[in-house]
Amino acid sequence: MSRDHKENYNRKTNRSKNNLCPYHRRCGGCQYINMPYDQQLAEKQKYVDKLLSGFGRVEPIIGMKDPFHYRNKVHGVVGMDRQGNGYTGIYEADSHRLVRVDYCMIENQKADQIMQSVAGLMKSFKMKAYNEDTGYGFLRHILIRTGHHTGEILLVLVTASPIFPSRNNFVKALRKLHPEITSIVVNVNDRDTSMILADRQQVLYGKGYIEDILCGKRFRISPKSFYQVNPVQTEILYGKAIEYAGLTGRETVLDAYSGIGTIGMVASDHAGHVIGVELNGEAVKDAIAGARINKIHNIQFVRADAGEYMARLASGIRHSADVSRKKVSKQSLTEQAIVRPDVLFMDPPRSGSSREFLSCLLKLKPEKVVYISCNPETLQRDLKYLTGNGYRVKKMQPVDMFPMTEKCECVVLLTTK
Ligand code: SAH
Repeated sequence: MSRDHKENYNRKTNRSKNNLCPYHRRCGGCQYINMPYDQQLAEKQKYVDKLLSGFGRVEPIIGMKDPFHYRNKVHGVVGMDRQGNGYTGIYEADSHRLVRVDYCMIENQKADQIMQSVAGLMKSFKMKAYNEDTGYGFLRHILIRTGHHTGEILLVLVTASPIFPSRNNFVKALRKLHPEITSIVVNVNDRDTSMILADRQQVLYGKGYIEDILCGKRFRISPKSFYQVNPVQTEILYGKAIEYAGLTGRETVLDAYSGIGTIGMVASDHAGHVIGVELNGEAVKDAIAGARINKIHNIQFVRADAGEYMARLASGIRHSADVSRKKVSKQSLTEQAIVRPDVLFMDPPRSGSSREFLSCLLKLKPEKVVYISCNPETLQRDLKYLTGNGYRVKKMQPVDMFPMTEKCECVVLLTTK
């Protein structure tokens, strides 16, 4: 851990080193904030070992050199005091009380400053914070995404109404304070929902998305697309995933739960053909744009539920096996080649993969499965199923993507026995 950083912080704020964050109890996001970083890593190792060592040896967790301010995505709920001054915060854990938060130890600092500036402009623009209980007010959330390598910054203002009277002046004032903002988007969310972003969106300034570079490839990231929050560790994670896949340049690769296509595109240099499958349409558009930006020609993206897509592939193989070789046209030969993945990358959400996905995986039997997981508990459940049905765990690597929190990411290599 960077001691300099911590000491510097303590000096600046005069806080004891046992209280790095005054909000942490009410926020609840950083369960480990007052634990030395080495100990945090030891805790995570113990947790992962307990869940996964039944499948084999778990490698020592890879930590961060500087575990602060790593989050490239920052979100604040907008509130307002009695004098009409705006502020941002978060809902207290398991409650509806908004806690004012002026800075955060894990968020990108520039993004935090921009969020403060947006809130600071509210009063002079007579902009009211949205009140969830009464349904009155305008500004609901502020979301900021930053490109670690490109420095691009996207600001999303989530409003309760599409009528934004002085928006041009608001944008002007903000850009004067922060010329580093590269795009501003308004997202209109007038529903009573815990979802931050809705479908209605308007670009006020710039491209409406950011680009960032990971593992030498450039990616497009729209407001609603998933993108890993810790870019430094993501490069390490993806590096491990590619190393585990051991690609030779000939393989057909399936990147399931592909998001904006990051893993698939990084793998494409080392593979014959890559298919990405992802449910979120905005992310798929980003992925297709990314392939164009990077001039990658051996990749395609499919918008589908990953389980349903696997089922389609599995039934396609059974079908094509019935067709006599002579009758197979050139077209279906390529389809055949495409539908039988040699290597599968899978990176499902916290809930893990579906039974449909896993049972079709067993039918398709890719030689190698590289499972990337942000939840060791669902990972354990899915590994149990796969190892009970012909797969063997070869390697397991935890990577600390979320310092100060108890969350842990793992990458696992499985092969057919
Ligand atoms: N591999 C990507 C994204 C991982 S996050 C990366 O590293 O950036 C998981 C992704 O799975 C999200 O983009 C989410 O939209 C997608 N997803 C969630 N459920 C899905 C499903 N049933 N089928 C396909 N994709 C799904």
